[in-house]
Amino acid sequence: MLAILHPNTPLDSDAYRQTLHYLENLPGVSLRVHEVQGSSQRLTEIYLLGDTKSLDKEEIEALPAVERAIRISDDYRILGRHRDDRRQSGFHYNGVDFSQDNLNIFAGLCAVDVPEHVEMMMQALEEHGEVCTRMGAYKPRTNPYSFQGHGKGCLPWVFEKAGKHGIKVVAMEITHESHIEEIDTCLEKLGRPTGVMLQIGTRNTQNFELLKAIGRQSTYPVLLKRGFGITLNESLNAAEYLASEGNANVIFCLRGMKTEAGQPHRNMVDFAHVPAVKRLTRMPVCVDPSHSVGSREASPDGILDVMHATAQGVIAGANMVLVDFHPKPEKALVDGPQALLMNELPAYLEDIRLCHETWKKRQDIYQRLKDSVSE
Ligand code: PEP
Ligand code: MN
Repeated sequence: MLAILHPNTPLDSDAYRQTLHYLENLPGVSLRVHEVQGSSQRLTEIYLLGDTKSLDKEEIEALPAVERAIRISDDYRILGRHRDDRRQSGFHYNGVDFSQDNLNIFAGLCAVDVPEHVEMMMQALEEHGEVCTRMGAYKPRTNPYSFQGHGKGCLPWVFEKAGKHGIKVVAMEITHESHIEEIDTCLEKLGRPTGVMLQIGTRNTQNFELLKAIGRQSTYPVLLKRGFGITLNESLNAAEYLASEGNANVIFCLRGMKTEAGQPHRNMVDFAHVPAVKRLTRMPVCVDPSHSVGSREASPDGILDVMHATAQGVIAGANMVLVDFHPKPEKALVDGPQALLMNELPAYLEDIRLCHETWKKRQDIYQRLKDSVSE
């Protein structure tokens, strides 16, 4: 059971104290208090765990600080959608909105290499009004002798350049909890010129200690990649680990599944799961067409497979696109062959906008159908 308190209930009010006192004394029930800071109000949610089957929803709703109570299932308690659950989806971070209704594009370098390339990328994004990017500093690699990313050494100049070009959020994978502090210390030293979304890669989807460490901080939102060899349910539970530790500002990223059956693509593109994740949880959903498709192959219609895959995700309601670009792919240190080129950026952005608008129109079509049936 979940008790949602009236917005902005002061934690030192009598109503709060009485409510908590009552709930704390329910036999066999333990409490977990979760604070949700929205752009205009603070919400306190109290999760009642344990022996809650016999609890009376109306009795909980009658408590002075409680606005409403929801019976929740065990799956994805915090991030999931439950019956009669009208809680909002998404969050606001560093001036950017993330929700299940809007769309943000994170085009950028798979791996940070030299300042000149980072500059070219960010300049192009600024010219097209984009305020988000991806920049890999810590790279998990299959081969221990491959380039592992510049690590904390590149953070100062990457963040400075982001600030200079009006980038508000940089998606950056971390592979160890110590990287959170490296990023935070660097941003603080520079006066926070930009923001960071901590990315958890597909190889770490079930690295539970890393998930817990990232979940314990709420300064930075999180982009969790689906595990490439596990079920969707297992990946969604991994996201719930973050929320259970206190950070529910999570975006779920589809990036393809590892199977021979996906060939000729690097992974089996799984973007039909966009609406499924939105139905099962309140997380905004991201698609990563670069790591799904993994090449610059084009079909006879002249459109690259990466672009087709992007369109499939966005037309199905994806809320974020994470995509590799590079000004000189032949010089890229990681994943050059799948990178899109700078001169492809405007057309790609136009294509994505078209698909996002089409998704909205598709919703209208089915809403009209629903209205006509209920008339
Ligand atoms: C990446 O986005 O750079 C990456 C390594 O992705 P994934 O974890 O999905 O392989
Ligand atoms: Mn990559």
